[in-house]
Amino acid sequence: MIAVRICLLASLLAVSACGGAPSSGTPSTAPPARPSILLVTLDTTRADAIGPEARGVDTPAFNALAARGRRFRQAYTTAPETLPSHSSMMTGLYPGGHGVHENARHLADTHPVVAARLKDAGYRTAAFVSSFILARRFGLARGFDVYDDTLPAGQVERSSRATTDQALAYLGQASAPLFLWVHYFDPHTPYAPDAAVAAQYAKTPYLGEIAAMDEQLGRLVQAFDAHTGRQGTPSAIIITSDHGEGLGDHGEPQHGNLLYQSTMHVPLVVVGPATAAAVVDEPVSTRRVFHTILEWAGLEPADRSRRSLGGGASLAEGGEVVLGEAMKPFLGYGWQPQIMAVEGRQKAILAGKTEVYDVIADPAEEKNLGAGANLSPALRKALDDYPVPSPEAARAPENLSDEARRNLASLGYVSASTPPVVRTDAPRPADMVALFDTLEKASGLFVQERYAQVIPLLEKILTADPYNLDAELRLATAYSSLGQNAKALAAFKRAATIAPRSPDVRTYLALHYARGKDWHQAVPLLERIVAETPERLPAVEALAVVRERQGRIEEAIALRQKIATLRAPTAADLVRLGQLAMQAQQTTLAIESFEGARSKVGPGFTHDVELGVLYLSARRFTDARTALDRVPPSHPEYPMALFKRAQVSVLLKEPDSAARIARARQHADGTTRELIARERLFQ
Ligand SMILES: [Zn+2]
Repeated sequence: MIAVRICLLASLLAVSACGGAPSSGTPSTAPPARPSILLVTLDTTRADAIGPEARGVDTPAFNALAARGRRFRQAYTTAPETLPSHSSMMTGLYPGGHGVHENARHLADTHPVVAARLKDAGYRTAAFVSSFILARRFGLARGFDVYDDTLPAGQVERSSRATTDQALAYLGQASAPLFLWVHYFDPHTPYAPDAAVAAQYAKTPYLGEIAAMDEQLGRLVQAFDAHTGRQGTPSAIIITSDHGEGLGDHGEPQHGNLLYQSTMHVPLVVVGPATAAAVVDEPVSTRRVFHTILEWAGLEPADRSRRSLGGGASLAEGGEVVLGEAMKPFLGYGWQPQIMAVEGRQKAILAGKTEVYDVIADPAEEKNLGAGANLSPALRKALDDYPVPSPEAARAPENLSDEARRNLASLGYVSASTPPVVRTDAPRPADMVALFDTLEKASGLFVQERYAQVIPLLEKILTADPYNLDAELRLATAYSSLGQNAKALAAFKRAATIAPRSPDVRTYLALHYARGKDWHQAVPLLERIVAETPERLPAVEALAVVRERQGRIEEAIALRQKIATLRAPTAADLVRLGQLAMQAQQTTLAIESFEGARSKVGPGFTHDVELGVLYLSARRFTDARTALDRVPPSHPEYPMALFKRAQVSVLLKEPDSAARIARARQHADGTTRELIARERLFQ
């Protein structure tokens, strides 16, 4: 059994005085009102960078909250990445349970989420997030009446000040009981604190970001307390972070690749009705945010109530081995999967071999107790039983648009292009830290299609890790895109040696052929890939282009319609589909496609001539008139627009049709002159 060490800072009487919640601890005959609940998640915030024990930074707002509630000194995230970690808080599950092991995946709609449970129970639910990583599309918006993921134009994050402004505006008119989740992103790279604190934290800009964020936390909590005061509801607050930041510890600059304390150990404070102010040293997982909120709302099923972090019951009853994982290097490159298990003061990391640390005596994890450490059977079993995901299954098709991919790249999150080859002698991520920076830079450059710059980085990666299929395929693609055929083919050959059965190798080779003068060699490859895996977007796209080149227009149209079911079509996609449909005389589809493009583009739409022609052939004369009237004289097809407009004018029996025919004649070009001469309507 885990030793529980709760040091009460105050007697219960004193707690009710400092608790701040109107009804806490006050006996009453009426059933206690359900509290309004505030969850604040601080992105990229290390446990030692915030709170009363933090060094080098002042965080008065966080400290004030800590004084009001339970401060957990050994809280752990479930994964050192934003989306997996938040998915755990929202579902109460480890990544093995909810299936989100990396950013840019999607939380499946089948998992019950805390917001939906509270909404069903009559709560108002609202979320304000500050990063593209948590955009609605990634699945965390379920159950929220309001999910504000608005970002400033062209940016991938929003400042804590701007997010707080939005949350405060909402709080001014929200009813109770309320569940409000606010996510701040400031401490994530790049470290560029507000001008107000920049000078003070010139040497530690990361801490400067935290200090500035803390100020916004203060504004938020004050407004939330005012809201619950106005509504006469108790107030319950949880504040934690989704993961820390390496800052060079164990060679890790940022987060996501390793399981050391710098990224896994997180701050956690729970302020709630009937929660005594205390400092807790028992290790806990932030997935228990889920159970805590449900308990506050009166929704926690009996068998799980022991997992609440805020209830009156002793934490020991919920005692469990705390787990965590960092699967990104495994899922991306096939390196050793990494699992963490913490019990009491002992922390074990399984990644090819087992490391053991006493995190109380040695929080920097400098002394690996290794094989000599006496692991408890529970800890050993937790490590052995942890479900390692299969790289194929974890990579359910997520057909991201180019824009989404670039957004993720600008945040440093580009997942591999292919599932890796899994092998038992794969490197341990902790031994490959020298490569993290290069891997990230290479991913960013690759997504930005800066192929000449990315090649030396990929070569460097492959020297250190010759079985890195992702790097080999990217290298082949980079050479292919630069027209260096022989080098591209050599890289494809090496990739096929690494992964003889990989459908990705075949796909990328086909794309290589489709790009060049040997495009006909791509045809059988693409046909086979699309037949086997009809959802494989890059292959479907390449086959659509190849079919056009072959003049097989009907098939190209069918493929483009398929693409539109795999990802949201862009305006350019719709224009191309419209043109093909027009060529194949599929008027209805052509009209639909151009109209779709026009609604995306707005006033900048340049295909009104086509639309006018199509409406005319569909005998939609007034629509044709409206479309053709939009064509400006500067348009290269203006003579055609005048000719078609004159036809419409005759058909609609407009009084100025003679003048329009004359104008069409006057501005005729080589094409329209002949058409006008033969037009019976004009005679
Ligand atoms: Zn994060």
